[in-house]
Amino acid sequence: MRAITNVYDKLADIIQETPTFDNVVAPIAYFDDLHKADVNVATFLQFVSPKSSIRKASYMAQVRLSVSETHMYSNKRLYNAVLSVYNNKEEMATLCNDDKQLLKSYLRQFENHEHQMAKNPANVQHFLDNLETKIGLLASENRKKLVQLKKKDMKNLGKEYVDFYTWDEAYYSHMLTKEMFDLNTEHVKEYFPLKHVIQTAISIFENLLGLQTKRAGSPNVWHPDVELYEVWDPIENLLVGHLYLDLYSRKNKCTGGTTFYLRPGFVQIDKLRECPVSAIVVDFPKPSNTSQALLSLTQVKTIFHELGHAFHNICTKTKWGGLCSSNVEHDFVEMPSQLMENWCLQPSQSTTLQTEI
Ligand SMILES: [Zn+2]
Repeated sequence: MRAITNVYDKLADIIQETPTFDNVVAPIAYFDDLHKADVNVATFLQFVSPKSSIRKASYMAQVRLSVSETHMYSNKRLYNAVLSVYNNKEEMATLCNDDKQLLKSYLRQFENHEHQMAKNPANVQHFLDNLETKIGLLASENRKKLVQLKKKDMKNLGKEYVDFYTWDEAYYSHMLTKEMFDLNTEHVKEYFPLKHVIQTAISIFENLLGLQTKRAGSPNVWHPDVELYEVWDPIENLLVGHLYLDLYSRKNKCTGGTTFYLRPGFVQIDKLRECPVSAIVVDFPKPSNTSQALLSLTQVKTIFHELGHAFHNICTKTKWGGLCSSNVEHDFVEMPSQLMENWCLQPSQSTTLQTEI
């Protein structure tokens, strides 16, 4: 981390009288791209490693990285140099689209940091209050329905209703779904065995994107459950990227579903494309020797959502790692995943996902 801070400081010291893209922005971007994969892997392991010493070290790396980023983005001379490149119309006219986008991206990060440093809690409070009002309305509507249901249930059981507790929520939400839609979610799961869903979802992505995946034999991974896939372009016979799947719930692993971009895809200095690496981490039930693991419809949507993120990263072709996958305009970040979620609900696709156990 000290190396990162030193580079930014040195850069601020040697900034030319006339800052240009090549003498200010490109050196930061080359340095970021060179170290991005190491930084991403170092900070990723806190969420998945079975060893507590590795999780702790990874967390500390994250903290130190945040400090060094704060250091860079609060460097006024560096900010002014980047801003002056942006304001130089002649220079801007000579830049390719990727260079312009990268410049804007750095500028945004400097400005976001300025906002954070401006200490303006009024705006933050206003945003949170607004959110609370909107979400609160929806939550209280739903809560009323659940309370009514519990009262009815207690009456049927000949028991007295006392209160609605946090632990009642999942039970009565399930009952409400059953009552409103005549849907038994446990029964729906029987149509979605995990292994079949994962393989089918991957082949839908292969067909859609014209790619081919190959399972790697004995990959070097952080846990024996983790699978590694190579992603190939079969027409060009070209390795496009790598995909890790860490599917099963286990002790000391993060919960929910997330895609981590371990290595961004970009064109290196020597003009070779850096192969991107994505890792999907979810907490699905693990199949045993005697029983299959079954997925809920929400979990089926989750795997499509995360594959959307993972393949967005794997298919990225940009000049700079700073423009790869999640570094797009903020509104667009969830777009590929949202599209893929809808895709899995289309009858033509969901029938291929289903199989009777
Ligand atoms: Zn997402």
